[in-house]
Amino acid sequence: MQKDPIRIVILGGGTAGWMTAAGFIKGFKPEFASVRLIESDEIGTVGVGEATLPQLKSFNDFLGLNEPEFMRDTNATFKLGIDFRNWGREGDRYIHPFGIHGQAINGVPLFQYWLKARANGHDSDLESYSFPIMACRNLKFDFPSEDDRSVRSTFAYAYQFDAVLYARYLRRWAEGRGLQRTEGKVVEVNLRPEDGFIRSLTLASGEVVEGDLFIDCSGFRSLLLGQTLKVPWEDWTPWLPCDRALAVPCDRTDDFTPYTRVTAREAGWIWRIPLQHRTGNGYVFSSRFTTEGRAAEVLLGGLDGKAQADPRLIKFAAGRRKQSWYKNCIAIGLASGFLEPLESTSIYLAQMASDFVMRLFPDRDIDPKLVTEFNRTIDIEYDRVRDFLILHYHANQKPAEEDPTGLWRYVREMTVPDTLIEKMETFKHRGHIHRYRDGLFAPPSWVAVYTGQNILPRNYDRQVDNMSTEAMLEKMREMQERVAVNVDALPTHADFLRDYCFDPSAKVMQETGNV
Ligand code: FAD
Repeated sequence: MQKDPIRIVILGGGTAGWMTAAGFIKGFKPEFASVRLIESDEIGTVGVGEATLPQLKSFNDFLGLNEPEFMRDTNATFKLGIDFRNWGREGDRYIHPFGIHGQAINGVPLFQYWLKARANGHDSDLESYSFPIMACRNLKFDFPSEDDRSVRSTFAYAYQFDAVLYARYLRRWAEGRGLQRTEGKVVEVNLRPEDGFIRSLTLASGEVVEGDLFIDCSGFRSLLLGQTLKVPWEDWTPWLPCDRALAVPCDRTDDFTPYTRVTAREAGWIWRIPLQHRTGNGYVFSSRFTTEGRAAEVLLGGLDGKAQADPRLIKFAAGRRKQSWYKNCIAIGLASGFLEPLESTSIYLAQMASDFVMRLFPDRDIDPKLVTEFNRTIDIEYDRVRDFLILHYHANQKPAEEDPTGLWRYVREMTVPDTLIEKMETFKHRGHIHRYRDGLFAPPSWVAVYTGQNILPRNYDRQVDNMSTEAMLEKMREMQERVAVNVDALPTHADFLRDYCFDPSAKVMQETGNV
């Protein structure tokens, strides 16, 4: 029987640190584990990370957060997907929805019927069968239906929020439940001579904080796992060459798009994320293909409101630590790796990692099998996200006149990972996409990107032939109509927000100074 609580020390109070801390406080009784978080106001946080995936709602539900209160306090809006512009070629547009492209018929995805109809000369808009996409296009929102026969049950939703306010919100929540927070800068990491495990952290004040398990949420610094324990870095920049972002908030507009917009530009892409009080914008670009000055010009030239600050530069590299768990240290968040925010995956990866730590939670003498299992799962998650992101770049058809910097030609012609080549070849045959038991990304996500970027299979799933072409076309027409009628009946996203969590006349404009 364990006598004393296991001492968990979390280094870092960004989104990763506070999500991990809140999860542990909720999941573990104080007799089992004590949780202490150290953060430094002087160092601060990365201050970005506004767009999320639907899994965040499960995390908030696990904590028992009150949704309207959480949304009010973080200036959040709802998100049904991501609007991709100019990715295949200039003028292309598609939405990656948090849901499906129409309900399956006889267990076969609607996408396969669409392929057959197309092959028979009946071209139609694939997106018009998708409830979440049509809601995005019409700026509508409502909660999903619990009736799984309804077309209104075919989606999930996420949030767009102020990341700094979210960390603050979780801090209040966790401190109110007994979490011990220490403000201070770690200046030394002390190892046990016998095995090289971390024994304690020394703060600038001289205080020494001992622990049994150390969670490294120190951001890009990776102070414990990278700098101290020297776990090597795996570099993915040859596949994902963007290495800079300029971020700038601007005055908001009133349309409150229920989606994040990502627009391909000459040396990368620009995000636009609508919050209650402002719109977040940023240009993710490759310093090999443009300059910071030119990037700022492109970014500021495309804002849809007045800039609220000067653009802030953030440097990064795509890649990750070869192991996220080493000895008695587990890195979560940017300390473990980074993949650019095109598909809003970073917060998800941190959430997934902290959840997995809880499930595998070690005793004081750490069983190496747990470490292996944790690292194996993290590898899979990172590799899948990496392949999916690479696809967006690789599958472009931009001609020279749309590619003044040469970035798009480079990513089209580069050698991509074998795992991605296999996925693309399988898809090109009959549109088959492997369905993972868990983790990112499900087949509709791949369908959205492939079709949106003009990659179509040569043939379709022949089970579709079990229905006559006339009957198939009729069912497809009915579905299109059902989607249109149901979307029509939804409130606008702006009205929904106003009723649910946002009073524009009240003082909700919590300014954080972050972008
Ligand atoms: P940080 O926020 O950097 O926090 C690090 C913490 O460690 C801070 O509290 C700091 O004070 C502390 N610390 C460091 N060193 C010390 C020390 N010596 N002593 C004491 N404390 C220390 N993710 C998404 O999911 N969606 C997005 O839309 C998105 N957009 C992004 C855009 C850009 C340009 C970038 C770069 C990232 C984006 N991300 C996004 C990623 C997201 O920002 C991060 O995953 C998230 O903020 C978690 O960061 P973190 O907590 O790991 O690190």
